[in-house]
Amino acid sequence: METLAGVTRMRLVGGNLALDFTNTRAGPPVGSPDDDVLTGYPELVAWGVYAGALSEPEAEVSRRLSRDDPDGAHAAFTRSLRIRDDLDEVFRAVAAGQSPSGSVLARLRDDEADALGHARLDRASTFEWTWRDDQTLARPLRPVVHAAVQLLTTGALHRIKGCRGCRFLFHDESKNRSRRWCSMDDCGTSEKIRRYVAARRTRATS
Ligand SMILES: [Zn+2]
Repeated sequence: METLAGVTRMRLVGGNLALDFTNTRAGPPVGSPDDDVLTGYPELVAWGVYAGALSEPEAEVSRRLSRDDPDGAHAAFTRSLRIRDDLDEVFRAVAAGQSPSGSVLARLRDDEADALGHARLDRASTFEWTWRDDQTLARPLRPVVHAAVQLLTTGALHRIKGCRGCRFLFHDESKNRSRRWCSMDDCGTSEKIRRYVAARRTRATS
């Protein structure tokens, strides 16, 4: 399945499944994305396994459903892109301290109602929504939508941030809320190098 290995190109640095789903597109902090790992339904399923939204047996069910119903799979994939646009809009607004539009929140409510309509309550340490019995093509999206609503309704909104170096969104779990980068290995390092070079230049001219 080497054609699907590309989905692991995007690091899981969002700290939340819904934010990682928006981070399947990469690019500069503002403007259009310049990379996208979600190129079709098989990639959506592969990403679901990579991000922990689907177990391998669940992914196999999704693959079988998509082979039996290519048109349905295409529709589910198109819907996943619409949901990603919606989550992007919602969380980018929250990160900027603004309110998402009423229409996007209404769509998210409908998506969550649909997700819970296919869920069951399973007992773990507490009761949890699971999608073990959901054999529909939308199965990979269910936990993503639910994670988004959970974060909005029970999470700390001021910890939702955009990376200063790229378009990735993340949930800042640092003690003093000081995280500025999606990852120190990527944007944080390039910023450190930029500051180092600037400081050296200042020293050289003074
Ligand atoms: Zn970044």
